[in-house]
Amino acid sequence: MQQAAALAAEHELDALLLMPGADLLRLTGYDAMPLERLTLLVVPASGSPSLVVPGFERPLAEEAGVGALAEIESWNDGEDPYALAARMIGPGRRFAIASQAWASHLLGLQRALPDAGFVPTEEALPLLRAVKDAAELDLLQAAARSADAAYGELLRRPFGGRTEDEVAADLDAALRRNGHQSVDFVTVGSGANGASPHHAHGPRSMSAGDAVVLDFGGLVHGYASDTTRVVSIGDAGAEVAEVHEIVCRAQQAAFEAVRPGVPCQEVDRAARRVIADAGYGANFTHRTGHGVGMTIHEPPYIVEGEQMPLAEGMCFSVEPGIYLAGRFGVRIEDLVVVTPQGCRRLQCAPRDLAVVS
Ligand code: ZN
Ligand code: ZN
Repeated sequence: MQQAAALAAEHELDALLLMPGADLLRLTGYDAMPLERLTLLVVPASGSPSLVVPGFERPLAEEAGVGALAEIESWNDGEDPYALAARMIGPGRRFAIASQAWASHLLGLQRALPDAGFVPTEEALPLLRAVKDAAELDLLQAAARSADAAYGELLRRPFGGRTEDEVAADLDAALRRNGHQSVDFVTVGSGANGASPHHAHGPRSMSAGDAVVLDFGGLVHGYASDTTRVVSIGDAGAEVAEVHEIVCRAQQAAFEAVRPGVPCQEVDRAARRVIADAGYGANFTHRTGHGVGMTIHEPPYIVEGEQMPLAEGMCFSVEPGIYLAGRFGVRIEDLVVVTPQGCRRLQCAPRDLAVVS
């Protein structure tokens, strides 16, 4: 909380306005439910923090220990929570608010504070949760190990003759069996479906010769996993093998570009160079990676134009891909943690094109 206040002061914000979600949970340990009723943590750049909560949720906030960190102010149905929030926020002109905050809450705050300006926390303070401490890195490592184990189990069953939906259900169950408390997404993109990075899974029945993109993640003790691998059912042909080898090299080049002080965009460029040199530049249609922590997409973003320097303890995905519309796609994704000299991968699952039956 003190670091957050110091960051706010450094960035000339009068206060951080945190809503239920990862920021509030990280700072206070209070896992509040996002609702139309206002829950708001006010962290002023100077002065003491306060939490505005619906009256009947006050006991939950107290149970979570928020009272030791912030003054708790509650409001009851029929009262105006934004007027109370405005009193707790006090004077000021420039506030950071999560881009995930409900519009109804931001509109309420704008009404109550007509002279205030709001900027997204993610943009104003990208470092609020980007650098992980040792305990957080242990949890991220545990999540990656769980995902590795689930992937290993999945490869032991045949893919041919089953639908994407069936394999997705299997993968979901394997993640939970191996320690995931929630599964946020499972992609099984076979054949041409693999060429759409946002395809989830469907009724397509898979058969020999298909390349299958598997992208999966969820939460283990509040921290996320995110892995992508590609398998081939029998022999998927020379072109799939060649494209896979290029993506593997691109992923390795990006991995080797990571060290403290390097701007995020340099990691993206390292992956993109390999793919462009191989003639597939136009087929790598997304950024190279995104930060991972209590959420699956957060700063730092590994993208052209992002000049934020990497710092020890940051954790993010490295996931280049090549997509050939109507035919197949390949993406390989690991999470990496920035170390004093470079980085290390959290996943151990082999990155090679696994052949399944
Ligand atoms: Zn992913
Ligand atoms: Zn990812």
